[in-house]
Formats: sequence, C-alpha cells, structure tokens
Amino acid sequence: MTQVFYIDTRGHCTEPVPFTEALVQGLAPGGGLFVPVSLPHLNLDEIAALAKLPYAARAAAIYQAFGVDLEPEAVDGLMAQAYGSNFDDPDICPITSLDANTHVLELWHGPTSAFKDMALQCLPRFFSASTRQLRARGLPVPEFCVLVATSGDTGKAALEGFKDMPGVSIGVLFPQDGVSDIQYKQMATQSGSNVMVWGVEGNFDDCQTGVKAVFADRAFNERLEREANVALTSANSINWGRLLPQVVYYVSSYASLVAQGKIACGEAIDVCVPTGNFGNILAAWYAKRIGTPLDMLMCASNENRVLTDFINTGRYDISQRQFLLTPSPSMDILVSSNLERQLFELNGRDAMAIRTWMEDLRDGGQFRVDVDTFAALRRHFVADSVSNADCLATIRQAFEKHRYLLDPHTAVAYRVAERLRGQNPVLIAATAHWAKFGDSVYRALHGMEPNESLPENIRSLSGCGLNRLISTETQCYNIPQGLARLDGLDLRFTDVIKKPAESIEEAVLQFLGIGG
Ligand SMILES: *Cc1c(COP(=O)(O)O)cnc(C)c1O
Repeated sequence: MTQVFYIDTRGHCTEPVPFTEALVQGLAPGGGLFVPVSLPHLNLDEIAALAKLPYAARAAAIYQAFGVDLEPEAVDGLMAQAYGSNFDDPDICPITSLDANTHVLELWHGPTSAFKDMALQCLPRFFSASTRQLRARGLPVPEFCVLVATSGDTGKAALEGFKDMPGVSIGVLFPQDGVSDIQYKQMATQSGSNVMVWGVEGNFDDCQTGVKAVFADRAFNERLEREANVALTSANSINWGRLLPQVVYYVSSYASLVAQGKIACGEAIDVCVPTGNFGNILAAWYAKRIGTPLDMLMCASNENRVLTDFINTGRYDISQRQFLLTPSPSMDILVSSNLERQLFELNGRDAMAIRTWMEDLRDGGQFRVDVDTFAALRRHFVADSVSNADCLATIRQAFEKHRYLLDPHTAVAYRVAERLRGQNPVLIAATAHWAKFGDSVYRALHGMEPNESLPENIRSLSGCGLNRLISTETQCYNIPQGLARLDGLDLRFTDVIKKPAESIEEAVLQFLGIGG
C-alpha cells in the first residue's frame, strides 16, 4: 500500500507529513488543518465485502486504504484493542431500523455511552504508536500531557481513551456546577494511573479560556519541556486521527445495510447528523467521496443554528449571535472548527481562499464563500434547526411511535430527517445514549418545558435513580453498565480549583510531579 502524505488547509506546510506526524502535531503549523494529499477510492464490491469482517478489521482496511505509515499488523492490533470488549455490542455500532427506510446508527455503545468513543477509543492508541514510531526514526518526540476543557461528554471520552496509554497523561477540567450528576460521577470515578480531573469554580467558558491561556503561556510550556520533557496537547476534534475513525462507520454501516438486505448494493441513502463541530458530518462526506453511495448529507442543528444558516445562505456569521443553552449541550457551539476542512475540499483545495475566510471570521465574525463553493456545498448538504421545545416533543413522539428512546442530540437529527427527507432511505447518526440526559428525557416524556424545574421528588433522585425511574416508566431497560453502576463507585477526584490560568498551571505542575 502506498503511503499518503498530509498537507494543510492554509498552505503553510512546505513539506507534506505522513499520517503519524499529522496525528502527533494535531493542528498544522500556521493554524490550518491536515488533510490527505490524495483520497482513496473503494468500489462497491470492496465496500460490500467489508460486511464479512468484524468491525475492527473493517476499520483496519479503511486505514490501509488511506495509506497510513504504520505496519499493517500494527494497525490490525491497535484496531482490535480499540473496537473490542470495551464496547457493549459485538457489532460496535449496530443499526436499529425504526421502519423499512429509517435506520438509526447507534454510535453510543462505547465505554462512555457517547459517540466520541468511536474516535477516542482509537486516536489515543494510534497517537501512542505514532510517537513510538517517530522516536524510532530518530525524531525528538517528548512525552505528552493532554489537557481538555469539557462541558461534560468529551472529557470523559478522552479520559477513557487515554487512560494507561504509555507516554501520555491526561488532565480534564470541567465546570464544577455545570455538569449533570451522571457526567460528574463519570469523571470523578475515572480509573487509570495517568489521569487527573479537576472541577473549576466557573462555567465551561472559564474552563476553556483558562486552558487556552495555559497553552499560550510560552514560559510555562518551556518549563514543562525542560523539567519533565512534557509537551501539552489538546487531541481535540480537529485532529485527523479523530476524523478517520468516523469515516469508517459510515462505510461500514452502508456495507451492513446491504448485507442485512435493507438496501440494494449501490442504492443511494441519505445521512442525517446532529452537528456541532462539523466532525461527524464531515466524516460522512469523506465516506461519500471515497465511494460510499451516500446522497444528501443532512446537517441538523439545535437553536445554535449557525451551520444551518451557513448551509442555506453561504454566509457564516457569528457577529450578532448569542450562545444559547439547549438540551443538546454537545452541539452548543458557535465556531465549528472542522468546517474549514470541508470548505477546503469543496473550493478546489484553495488554501488562499481559506486563509481569507478564516481571517474574516477572526476579525469581523463572519465570512461568505464564493458562488462555486456555495454550489458545491448545496450539492451535498441540506440543513435545518430544531427548537428546544421541539427537541423534547420529538423524544416523546418517537417513543410513542417506535417505543425507542432518543437522546436530545439524536432527537434533533430525527426531527430534521423527518422534515427534509425525500425518497431515499435515511441513516440517522445516534450520538448519545438517552441515559446520559435523563433530565431532558424525563421532561420530554412528561410534557414539560425545556427549562421547567423537575418536581421535588424527582430532583432529589441521583442521575442513576432518575434513569431507573425512566426505565420503569418506559420499559426501556437498556441502560449501559457504565452508567447504571455509577452510584456504587468511589469518587477518586474531588479537587476544585480556581479559574485563572495560574491556578490551572499550578495544578498541572503538581499532577506531573514538577516543582515543590
Ligand atoms: C460531540 C457531539 C456531537 C457533535 O458532533 P460534531 O462532530 O462536533 O459535529 C453531537 N452529539 C453528541 C452527543 C456529541 O457528544
């Protein structure tokens, strides 16, 4: 298999780099994002043949097609670890069909019950292997400390992914009073010898601002390197190593639908994705681009509808936009960083245009793409947004119709698919298990308003207790073990730190065993 190199979306990289380097660097020098110089093409027979393989082998086959610079046996081994008994379903991401033409791709069977596991069970293993390979080539690669600010989901998925990974440690910061009981316990009970979790006195924005300031503090970063040979990294969703695992499940699920006789081989299907940072839906576009018969890609937004407006107008504008809180917090976002990759792929890979648009966004809070790029965008994407009240109504209606519980993120996609679908079968990306968002599910099932406080006797239940109640009421007893057992685990991490960067830096030094 020939090796494929990576260039960046802003044209600052003079030398293309192999997969392992793109992974370890994360962001390209100059602020652009890495993309492969060339993309593979799979024909229909190759795609359909994937159905005979276990999921891990499907993933390895796609990685080989993308020309990664790791030994095939190494890739096989890493994939077997990434997609094995850490998932609670042998199919890893099984498909539940609600009717003949509506298929739900359940991406939440991993250890934290959110779709980020699909990427974060994979990336850390390839990250570790990549650092080993680069060192073996004689490059001076330090140890890494992953620092993550989280509003709830990403932090836990990153902790599970990086725990006990050689050469890497991970620290997660969450807003002390801003996460649900379930999310808090998921993080505070985290196992592993290289992990740390801090509550921060502040909101998510404070956490993120603090972490950004730590990344930008040159003197602090030099000290880490000098005294511990440690470099900070974010491993966030702009890393190509988080995107490629997501391409896998779109190709794989097409193969599964064909093998299960639900679609004919070569028949086009539409995909509907609840979208935040544009990573998941971009992966669907790459799957389409390399040969999977996907037709329309439906971008589903919550009330933070910047992407929907962009896809419908060609103008990305956050200059007047408020950041809104919704029942689907993992889609509460204003700057969708992976959109940059999509625009690069649609504008003829014109890095100069990307630079201009990103400068316009930074300086004026908006940019507008040219007519050709807009036309290309419209050939692949449609978009719509769902209000908070409609999100909860959707959970209730879908349950009444199919006896199937949707989490609030998946509900947004379900509603948009209902509104925008045409003749094609639709694959809906289900990005979280309902039991991660029991509060909203309870409100939905009881016809309450999105912001209405829960009755006193419900509010006093733990997250696990509330989920058991919902199970009894709905007879949906499929609560994942990792969530059901949280009340019985010891809280390992209870430190609360203040929000300024100095407090975070002090905590990081202590975690890494530096200084006095
Ligand atoms: C992160 C996340 C999303 C958004 O995915 P993007 O790749 O950022 O578009 C949607 N739903 C859930 C549950 C998530 O955790």
